[in-house]
Amino acid sequence: MHATAQDAGAASRLTVLSGPSGVGKGSVKALIQERYPWVWLSVSATTRSPRPGEIDGIDYHYKSVPEFESQIQRGEFLEWAAFAGNMYGTPRGPVEQKLASGLPALLEIELQGARQVRETMPGAQLVFLAPPSWDELVRRLTGRGTEDSAAIERRLERAREELASEAEFDHTIVNVSVEQAAAELVELLGSPATSKQV
Ligand code: 5GP
Repeated sequence: MHATAQDAGAASRLTVLSGPSGVGKGSVKALIQERYPWVWLSVSATTRSPRPGEIDGIDYHYKSVPEFESQIQRGEFLEWAAFAGNMYGTPRGPVEQKLASGLPALLEIELQGARQVRETMPGAQLVFLAPPSWDELVRRLTGRGTEDSAAIERRLERAREELASEAEFDHTIVNVSVEQAAAELVELLGSPATSKQV
């Protein structure tokens, strides 16, 4: 099925931020929420347990595996993927509502999910957040202190694959500082002057 001009316009307001685990996507997302409150960010569902300080409905919608699987069955995810032993998905409804009202939407997701969005919403812009170097990525991943060594190893393995996918993206932002990366991303989303405020 071909997208209508209207679909293409709506999809162009969809921006996907992806990049290897540990590159700082979460920090960029948090800074955008604080400094650029007009940017709407999707809240994903996940089967992983909350980390200390994370809040259900704000950081993620925390689901059991059976709950997550029935949401898949009901077609409730725009995209979903298994990542490092857990499942993650973007609830479809809120994103579609945002886009239908002509407002930009930002998803922060991993590579498989970004590829699904590319397939289903060809007008979406895909942004790759890259680390300044591999050593810096390893340092950030091991220094986070929230995962055991097996989980870190799984994330590093995945990070190697994810780094190799950079060419599939429309834009690359090198995360030298969170402030600069967030500002570059917001620039790509369009300024509040060009997009209606919520
Ligand atoms: P974390 O467990 O560190 O919060 O997230 C692990 C990975 O899952 C990160 O790379 C993050 O971008 C990704 N992720 C978070 N939400 C979603 C989602 O809804 N869909 C997909 N495909 N990946 C997600």
